[in-house]
Amino acid sequence: MRLPSLLFYAAIFLSTELSAQVVFPQNLFTPPLFLPFNLAGNFGELRSNHFHSGIDIKTNGQEGQVVMASADGYISRIKVSAVGFGKAIYINHPDGYTTVYGHLQRFNDTIQSYVEAEQYKKESFEVDLFPDSNMFPVRQGQFIALSGNTGSSEGPHLHFEIRDKVSEHPFNPLLFGFHSDDTIAPVIKNIKVYQLHETKPRLINDTSLTIAVSDSSNLFSLKQDTVYVFEKTAFSVETSDKMNDTTSNLVVNKIELLLDEKTIYTWHFDEFSFDESRFVNANIDYAEKVNNKKKYILLHRLPGNNFSMFKKDSTMTGIIDIKDSRFHDVEIRVTDLNGNGVIKKVVVKKMENRRWKMHDGKWKMEVGSWKPVKKKKVPAGYFISWEKTPVITKPDIKVSFAEHVVYDIAPFEIVKEKKLKGTYAALFSVGEETIPIHSFMNLSLKPVNLPDSLSAKALIVSVDKKENKYAEESSYAKGWVTGKIRHFGRFTIAVDTLAPEITEPQIYTDSISGRRIIFTVISDNLSGIKTYRATLNEKWFLMDYDEKTGRLSCELKNATEGNKSELVIEVTDRKENKTVLKTSIDF
Ligand SMILES: [Zn+2]
Repeated sequence: MRLPSLLFYAAIFLSTELSAQVVFPQNLFTPPLFLPFNLAGNFGELRSNHFHSGIDIKTNGQEGQVVMASADGYISRIKVSAVGFGKAIYINHPDGYTTVYGHLQRFNDTIQSYVEAEQYKKESFEVDLFPDSNMFPVRQGQFIALSGNTGSSEGPHLHFEIRDKVSEHPFNPLLFGFHSDDTIAPVIKNIKVYQLHETKPRLINDTSLTIAVSDSSNLFSLKQDTVYVFEKTAFSVETSDKMNDTTSNLVVNKIELLLDEKTIYTWHFDEFSFDESRFVNANIDYAEKVNNKKKYILLHRLPGNNFSMFKKDSTMTGIIDIKDSRFHDVEIRVTDLNGNGVIKKVVVKKMENRRWKMHDGKWKMEVGSWKPVKKKKVPAGYFISWEKTPVITKPDIKVSFAEHVVYDIAPFEIVKEKKLKGTYAALFSVGEETIPIHSFMNLSLKPVNLPDSLSAKALIVSVDKKENKYAEESSYAKGWVTGKIRHFGRFTIAVDTLAPEITEPQIYTDSISGRRIIFTVISDNLSGIKTYRATLNEKWFLMDYDEKTGRLSCELKNATEGNKSELVIEVTDRKENKTVLKTSIDF
């Protein structure tokens, strides 16, 4: 076995990292917090249906840290939302960049009063404002907001982004010269090998083998017995990284797959476009995610994976095609942004036929670790691919697809299961939930025994293994309940006749800020909250809404002490069930 020289690789790592860094200005931006860059998340992380578009800087587990403008410019956008980045500020800089600050608790007083005035004008908590360039000019280091936990945030932190001002493509912020200590190499936890079928249709994940990598400290730990493969083989890797001040697992910067010392696949990107973010599902082993909540990054390109990362080399497939019977070296090189690297090597050899024997008229493995998965019988023609999708019309179910629905060729079938109690259709298993949907599926189900009086309350629900029901955006029309759905699984029809719940409002004084806060929690059993509206003495009253906690809250500041006021909160769900709570508050 040939052992490559350590110096040779060190040189490669160094040169690629340097060439990547010269593109971006190194002294333009300063850190948006006084705190060090202790990251809870980094750029390009493979999250649920999207790539992470910035860095998440930890704020000592607390809200209320001072957030500063990272460079001179002006505030070009202020967005307030119950989801996503929550309260967010966008700053345009003269050099062609935009910085974004997300999950803020509150804005500085000037911005806060402007936003509140707009919220009252529009009678809406959620606003998306684009102030004129002369309205809020900012200097580098200027206080703009306090950090928080608003929107889809799982703990106090600042989400920070650097985007191209025109294309709005997010860049990796760590390429802009922010200092962070990082001498820790990434870790490769597992390597997965896939056998690709020679005959069409090709099904990925049909047969795979996982190699656990135990020794992660040694750069050249090559302890792996030969893996016998078919002619066409592909790989994926479970890997993560840490920085010196970081306890969270971060995504690595680059993964290379080499066959006999030649790079055949590179997973790496410094920017992407938001409208291609869903391609994240084409870059992971989606079945591992669904079944085991694990993230394996694919080191091969699925036929329908049109992520812009491939623009650099459109011929790159990562598929290993061995024709001879020699031993071949497969290497996986993983590096972080600071050039710390780890390499794992696997020796592969084409499998001889004698390792297989006939069983029930099919070739089965005789020895070795390969475990061919039992394949379901699929009716002829029921396959789905990036280019071709079936249209299925049956008396009780209709399925059609938008373009570009799956990344590969996959089996597709509909199985009718027993009707569940309290539902209004059979339970249909549609496709395989381990196969991701890129665009969407039009699904229509025919209701069974649904009274006319309930048709407006009917919706499609997806049903998990424990028979929990989750609402899909859908509605009744002309004898069918129809929705646009972005995942495969089991579906049926349910009705939502229950109105949302609103807890009794409570008032407390925040011990740190001294602010008096009134809050209530709103929730819905099934279809989800569509609108919420509060009035105080019959006038629209601003209450912040946080979807993840269901909390509606407001600071009591304009009311006069000793006054009694009537607070009314109205909440409707997506099936127009409405709850009204009236209460008198004693200021
Ligand atoms: Zn983030």
